[in-house]
Amino acid sequence: MASQMIREWAGINTFAPATQAKLLELLGKLKQENVNTLTILVMGKSGVGKSSTVNSVIGERAVSINPFQTEGVRPVMVSRSRAGFALNIIDTPGIIEGGYVNDQALEIIKCFLLNKTIDVLLYVDRLDAYRVDNLDRLVVKAITDSFGKEIWNKASIVLTHAQLSPPDGLPYEEFFSKRSEALIKTIRQAARLKKDDSQASSIPVILVENSGRCNKNDSDEKVLPNGTTWISYLVQRVTEIMLNGCKSIYVDKKLIEGPDPNQRGKLLIPLIFALQFFFVMKPIEGAIKKDISRESKPSWETRDVGAANRKF
Ligand code: GDP
Ligand code: MG
Repeated sequence: MASQMIREWAGINTFAPATQAKLLELLGKLKQENVNTLTILVMGKSGVGKSSTVNSVIGERAVSINPFQTEGVRPVMVSRSRAGFALNIIDTPGIIEGGYVNDQALEIIKCFLLNKTIDVLLYVDRLDAYRVDNLDRLVVKAITDSFGKEIWNKASIVLTHAQLSPPDGLPYEEFFSKRSEALIKTIRQAARLKKDDSQASSIPVILVENSGRCNKNDSDEKVLPNGTTWISYLVQRVTEIMLNGCKSIYVDKKLIEGPDPNQRGKLLIPLIFALQFFFVMKPIEGAIKKDISRESKPSWETRDVGAANRKF
């Protein structure tokens, strides 16, 4: 994509000066590491706050939000540039419909991503949801099946609606860690990450409050009940993922179509032949040989052998 076509990231100026300073410092860090482009993919169920999070990070109403959980069918890429650095955030519609993964919606997302590189995946859900259900598993599985397990090396969980008072007087940190653990466990299971896999245990969790009513600290930065200034924290985590040494995910035709089924079948042919040889042909051959050797002896001979054996 030609950088001159990208709009200036003007929304950054709407942040508190302290937040702006931190963001520019993080962008400087990326540039120092020769990273000039960062592409973030945002996925999750409908209505969890994906589009709102995109707007919060960009600092303007770049994509439309919807309180009634109906989203457009097409992903939208918002691109902004700042000091020679390009930030792309891809907002996607939820992929669950009527309790199942909407394969068509997933296909549209995959086609949209073709020939793009995903540097960071933000898997969005709400902090104020009390249990992880089968729909969550389906979304995680669909993401894993589409982009490979490796996508979780480049992922972070984002929990919206983070300005809350936990129920039953539970301390905020305890509520947050219980919710995070449940989601990480689901991701580990649904994505079939190994138990001791560092991938799953190291998935960072970022709290977000998109509401205009989000509290602010003395420096006018948006702040959460646990004291986190979340916008700069999110960008910091994203920067760390970008620089974590794991490869970004390049979405090519092979990745989204999976291995050629014909090719996969062909690889099995020698194995099937070998199995047939050892477990079907060999036993049959053995049985035939045994039969022949028995047949070739006259019946009186086998009878005598039996009698001789009885004598001693
Ligand atoms: P999406 O379907 O995942 O893209 O979700 P949207 O961003 O469209 O948000 C769905 C609804 O949740 C909208 O009414 C948003 O205003 C609201 N919403 C999103 N994030 C937050 C949040 O962090 N806090 C609060 N209070 N509301 C949010
Ligand atoms: Mg949306």
